[in-house]
Amino acid sequence: MSKKASVYRGRFAPSPSGDLHFGSLLAALVSYCDARSHNGYWYLRIEDVDSSRTVVDADLRIFKTLQAYELAWDGQVIYQTDSKQQQHYQKALEQLTDLGLTYRCRCTRKQLSGHSTYPGHCRLLSISEQEPHSIRLITDTDTIYFNDSYQGPQQQHLQQQCGDFNIVRKDGLFSYQLAVVIDDHLSGINHVVRGIDILDSTARQIYLHRKLGLTPPAYAHFPIVVNQKGHKLSKQNHATAVSHEDPTQVTRLALNLLNQDLPHKPMTQQQLIQWAVDHWLPERFKGQKHIDYGVTP
Ligand code: GLU
Ligand code: ZN
Repeated sequence: MSKKASVYRGRFAPSPSGDLHFGSLLAALVSYCDARSHNGYWYLRIEDVDSSRTVVDADLRIFKTLQAYELAWDGQVIYQTDSKQQQHYQKALEQLTDLGLTYRCRCTRKQLSGHSTYPGHCRLLSISEQEPHSIRLITDTDTIYFNDSYQGPQQQHLQQQCGDFNIVRKDGLFSYQLAVVIDDHLSGINHVVRGIDILDSTARQIYLHRKLGLTPPAYAHFPIVVNQKGHKLSKQNHATAVSHEDPTQVTRLALNLLNQDLPHKPMTQQQLIQWAVDHWLPERFKGQKHIDYGVTP
């Protein structure tokens, strides 16, 4: 392999549905340290494909937080609503359709409630373009295997555990699964580091890569922070925006929760981030699924 091909390219991909909270800051920090400790690139993508959830200026506030925490990204920020990205999603959809791997689905949320796997109702129907519909990708009977760098060997039988899945939603928006695969491919991302809450999507993304003739990246899913009730921190359960007042204190707390060593002497935020990269030991949280932390800053 040439040196160029082996360069690590990672990314942080927040949704602009609000400010970064402690959980999403952790995703930024872990993916940053992993990339930089491999002398890699670290890109920033604003995942606004579900434009109905976009909050005005949330992207600018995310930039400010990353800057306050000295997490400097490479290159230009990518937006999924950018017409260039959208054209590539459309091309991928056409490619999958040409392969005979897609069909229209008119099932309503109500019809599908109680099904964790899509039962394939519409697979053999021919639904007209005029009817409200989503577009599903046909899954096959192969089991998808992959080795997660943090969580170890994983497998998913897509047909049994997920079923044919949407690549275009009923409202006409491209699905998160399709967008992520195309975005990662276009940016040359070869290492995806993200929270374990997204582990379940990985087999679908690998499947999409393969059907499109692309090479999937390596995956690493780190443990996510849960609150006193054992729930993931998220905007939905009102996790508060991470403070810009004392980034070093918040960063030390995050590193401590990840079982990383901490410097004994006081440091500036920039020094602390560099220290974290230089002392990065992901094996300290390998196999761990949750970080229990009651009160987050
Ligand atoms: N946009 C997703 C989130 O904010 C992350 C998706 C990914 O890293 O693949 O949870
Ligand atoms: Zn259907």
